[in-house]
Amino acid sequence: MKSASIARPEILTLKPYQAGQQVPGTIRLNANEAPVAAWKDGDPQSLNRYPEARPFTIQQRLAAMFGVSVANLLVTRGSSEAIDVLIRAFCCAYKDAIVTTPPTFEMYRVYADIQGVGMVDAPLDAGNGFRLDPQRILDACSSTTKLVFLCTPNNPTGGLIDTADIMTIARARQGKSLVVVDEAYIEFSGQTSLCQRIDEVDNLVVLRTLSKAHALAGARCGAAVANEEIVNVLGRVLPPYTFPTPVVECVLQALEHGRAERSAAAIADIIAERERLHEALEAETCVETIWPSQANFMLVRFRDLAAVQNFLREERILIRDFSSYPALKNCARITVGTAAENDALLAALRRFGEQQS
Ligand SMILES: *Cc1c(COP(=O)(O)O)cnc(C)c1O
Repeated sequence: MKSASIARPEILTLKPYQAGQQVPGTIRLNANEAPVAAWKDGDPQSLNRYPEARPFTIQQRLAAMFGVSVANLLVTRGSSEAIDVLIRAFCCAYKDAIVTTPPTFEMYRVYADIQGVGMVDAPLDAGNGFRLDPQRILDACSSTTKLVFLCTPNNPTGGLIDTADIMTIARARQGKSLVVVDEAYIEFSGQTSLCQRIDEVDNLVVLRTLSKAHALAGARCGAAVANEEIVNVLGRVLPPYTFPTPVVECVLQALEHGRAERSAAAIADIIAERERLHEALEAETCVETIWPSQANFMLVRFRDLAAVQNFLREERILIRDFSSYPALKNCARITVGTAAENDALLAALRRFGEQQS
């Protein structure tokens, strides 16, 4: 069975909404739009017309960036929306389930809960640097598992999953589950994206985003990359007109020719700062463990996280508390900032340590 056909039966037979046609040089009396703009009439930024049902120019740009064809990519409002659309398209409420690898990104659980979909845990190996054991994933899968979420580098632990392990899991689950590889932070790692390998198996979905390495979190722009059948199924669930006209303009300008190099230089700076911050944090007495990270953040275990966090809050520095996870007692995720911001953090932790001793 083709993996795209494991989608919810009512989605496979759904008659998709037909948006009104938009043909340049025509009199448009087919979409109940206002004929005159209230603001900037006649300007491309005027807002009286609906945007394109799908942002085709962004789709082309992202397909080129990720090295895939346009038919293999669905543009979504951040990759978060792709997670939501995947769960709604493939999982029947109160019947199907997803497999995740805690500690990992919380949104998989949130969207599963919203859709009434069960979640089966295949925890990363906390005693072994939060490594993923592919057999543990396969053992967690059952006949109701429609989606397996693998996050690489993983948020919040920062480690990579071996590409060979991902492909092993995908091959074993063909026709039964989609394997969704969340590559939100892949640009900060040495690893090659799996976008180029979606033809090797028919159940691989890769999530990419402009929010992290591409510095466009405010634009809410991401993508699901998969074979054409899967992209078509997801497109049935994603509503039309999700990208407002000004956002389309902004994203295209931000991605304009020549800016890719700037983006690569900014990524290299973050990686260098990550390594500097890691090394400097190791010297701080309040720090117990730092996990090596391939992303733009690192997971740190403090001796007393609550005390550190209170002190940092007074210093107007925010870090993210992960201590409610069973394997992450006293742990926080620290995003790599500018050199000056990282210095401010290090200076504050130094003061905290001196105050304690
Ligand atoms: C930040 C993040 C995303 C997506 O963010 P969007 O802004 O919605 O694209 C997806 N997955 C992980 C693991 C993330 O950390």
